[in-house]
Amino acid sequence: MPRLYLSPPDVGSAEVEFVLEAFESNWVAPVGPQLDAFEHEFAEVVGSRHAVGVSSGTAALHLALRLAGVGPGDEVLCSTLTFIASAAPITYLGAKPVFIDSEAQSWNMDPAVVCEVIERKAKAGRTPKALVLVHLYGQSADIAPIKACCERYGVKLIEDAAEALGASYGETSPGSHGLFGIHSFNGNKIITTSGGGMLVTDDAELARQARFLATQARDPAAHYQHSTIGYNYRLSNICAAIGRGQLLRLAGKVTRRRDHYRGYQKAFAACQGIVMQPEASWGESTHWLSCLTINPTKAGATTDDVRLALEKLDIEARPIWKPLHLQPVFAGAEYHGGQVAEGLFAQGLCLPSGSGMSVDDRDRVIAGVKSALK
Ligand SMILES: *Cc1c(COP(=O)(O)O)cnc(C)c1O
Repeated sequence: MPRLYLSPPDVGSAEVEFVLEAFESNWVAPVGPQLDAFEHEFAEVVGSRHAVGVSSGTAALHLALRLAGVGPGDEVLCSTLTFIASAAPITYLGAKPVFIDSEAQSWNMDPAVVCEVIERKAKAGRTPKALVLVHLYGQSADIAPIKACCERYGVKLIEDAAEALGASYGETSPGSHGLFGIHSFNGNKIITTSGGGMLVTDDAELARQARFLATQARDPAAHYQHSTIGYNYRLSNICAAIGRGQLLRLAGKVTRRRDHYRGYQKAFAACQGIVMQPEASWGESTHWLSCLTINPTKAGATTDDVRLALEKLDIEARPIWKPLHLQPVFAGAEYHGGQVAEGLFAQGLCLPSGSGMSVDDRDRVIAGVKSALK
């Protein structure tokens, strides 16, 4: 039987047609009509006024932080329970990440903790410059209270929606509430361009500046003039063509992932000690990955026992993200909160969740998990 991966690409024929269009028009270039179309279509889908296609989600976040005015010595608040890419660009700019714990309801940044931190720092005259709010595994964070305290103290809100394309927060999309939102089209995300990302904003001038910085900051002159240092961060026209095809099937892809989550939930409902990542009352998750926690005393097996049992069956499973405040590279970084993220990391596991995965394959995963329990 073929190996089951956590979240492999899921491509179709529309992608091929858009890529052929790009080839036939000879637009095999870093920008072009496919990119323009992809940006417009994407902005429409997520409900942001402007979208700027870039080479990765990490690049999008780097641009967002720079345009939020983050610089050397500044503090930037960031969810601790996330992938390294949520925080790495903070350090590219010489700023300091300050990590914030999760709440148990959605596994995302705890509004009570972060608002208290913002208030205390503001009163001490050290207002953080920006806040990176992650929507973990496709579940929207509780944006409204966090946005309110950011606005009260002038902290720039940037949403990392890399895992949450197609999720909801009330009637809106996570990623469309901050000064900027970022998305990822890495090979393992909800949609892929083989590699790429998107920066979204409602501010036309900021979108213009993002395009400028992403194309080597070329001043308007024939002779290549530069007054600031930029980056080579634009998304290629070919990758954008793939993205257009993927975007057409976004709703179906999210439905498939949500079905996997419900399938797992049903299968494990009777298993002692297994709890799925909860879905918060404020929005539907994409369930980019179906995640659960395993209480070893009740389940009769540890998270690692289950992961290794699956590995023997050629099924990929991964622990949930190691909290960034526990990462060696961030040793000594400031952290606020309790042990929510640490507890989730100690017991959390992500199961195969790809939109191309069949029900039979999902049953294979379920049987594998159950075989490891007592
Ligand atoms: C994937 C991911 C990113 C980075 O996206 P890339 O396109 O791989 O650079 C950022 N944040 C989170 C939460 C992610 O999962």
